[in-house]
Amino acid sequence: MYPETRLRRLRKTKGMRDLVCETRLSPENLVLPVFFDENLDRPRATESMPDVPTWALKDYEEIAGGIEGSGVSSVLVFGIPKRKDAAGSQAYAENGVVQKAVRGLKDSSDLLVIADLCMCEYTDHGHCGILCRDGRVDNDGTVELYGRIAVSQARAGADIISPSGMMDGQIAAIRAALDDAGFEDTPIMAYSAKYQSAYYGPFRDIANSAPDKGDRAGYQMAPSNRREALREIAADIEEGADIVMVKPAGPYLDIVREAADTFPYPLCAYQVSGEYAMIKAAAANGWIDENRVMEESLLGIKRAGADMIVTYYAEKMARRLRE
Ligand SMILES: [Zn+2]
Repeated sequence: MYPETRLRRLRKTKGMRDLVCETRLSPENLVLPVFFDENLDRPRATESMPDVPTWALKDYEEIAGGIEGSGVSSVLVFGIPKRKDAAGSQAYAENGVVQKAVRGLKDSSDLLVIADLCMCEYTDHGHCGILCRDGRVDNDGTVELYGRIAVSQARAGADIISPSGMMDGQIAAIRAALDDAGFEDTPIMAYSAKYQSAYYGPFRDIANSAPDKGDRAGYQMAPSNRREALREIAADIEEGADIVMVKPAGPYLDIVREAADTFPYPLCAYQVSGEYAMIKAAAANGWIDENRVMEESLLGIKRAGADMIVTYYAEKMARRLRE
């Protein structure tokens, strides 16, 4: 009790505060999403995602060099194909955009390369899988294709396969396909609790992947649900996930905390495009201090229990940590 207890004692100096610091960010736990577009000859900027270029399929050494130079050692790779069709066939093409990008990055760097596995960038209708006649996503047909995509990504050299489509049974299907093809040592990072979020808007500007009809409420989680997230994570672990993920991060820190407390598995959280864009926009207006808000937003995610964070701020944050 005051006056014997004075919590301010330990806040007196920077050295004192550093000594009792409970949560620290480090570059090794930050994962940078990178986009490659087969249609490009040179990098393209996206207005809603400042400082997040979409790359052409070349200049791998330069791209990887910049990332490694910041201290970031892991990337999550997304691809935008030249040709989209109803079956999303470019997603599992041996020479598809992600397969090429993964190969290029692995050949020219020491980066740990995680391949995002979904179909929404590859289907002409923009959904995360193939469709039934009635327009709904065909879950079981889709997970079979996911297995094929996973094998093609592992063949290209991906270190981790990261399925984000929220189909039931996708982890089991991918694990089986990888094992059958001799990739039993390739881990799966599952987007386990992926919410149907309005925060994904700027990502869709980059990937041109908004569904043309309907939305993703039929397979992604409703923002209102907490217990269901725990069931999703438990199911993915049961099916063989090595790392589980909560996405988005900032508005779902309660889920991150509960997942961290419940499951003894590496936990990833994805600070999504909308979270990033909001900080960028407010900072551009001079309303907030970008560096400090970036750091605080990421600290919050780590403090909630995430072991690793996927963030568009990975490079900038890593550089700040190194200073
Ligand atoms: Zn998708």
